[in-house]
Amino acid sequence: MAADPQCVFCKIVAGQIPSVKVAESDVAYAFMDIGPIATGHTLVIPKEHYVGVEDVPAEVAAGVFELAARVAPALVQAVGAEGMNILQNHGRCAGQVVMHMHVHLIPRRAGDGLQRPWPAGQADPAELKRIAEKVASTLSK
Ligand code: AMP
Ligand code: ZN
Repeated sequence: MAADPQCVFCKIVAGQIPSVKVAESDVAYAFMDIGPIATGHTLVIPKEHYVGVEDVPAEVAAGVFELAARVAPALVQAVGAEGMNILQNHGRCAGQVVMHMHVHLIPRRAGDGLQRPWPAGQADPAELKRIAEKVASTLSK
């Protein structure tokens, strides 16, 4: 199984450093975050080392989200939450600190005081179209 010997999450998968396991599947592992943003904050990772979402093979990505979707409602129930932010920081500029792709499950309650770190902008319809066409053109190459 592909692993990076320097990677903290690979060490967790290998049992070389401790973690509090929530659940696992053939391809994915869910465990409690040691720096929880909210009570019950859980991480879901592929068992193999991939840095970003674009590196993760489709079947592994499906397995990570299968486990995330299975854990999410049980986690909501376990901590008495009402919903959840499911997010993935991609790249250092976006706040990715651990360079082993992972999905955050952050339980939420109304009035819990957590706020999105960014305000909504105002869409320029021409710009939306231009960007969408550029992405589509890149994808079609
Ligand atoms: P990110 O900023 O998206 O890379 O998130 C990395 C997350 O990994 C943070 O929420 C950390 O609290 C968490 N984390 C780092 N090391 C560990 C560890 N040994 N066990 C559990 N969670 C960890
Ligand atoms: Zn890793």
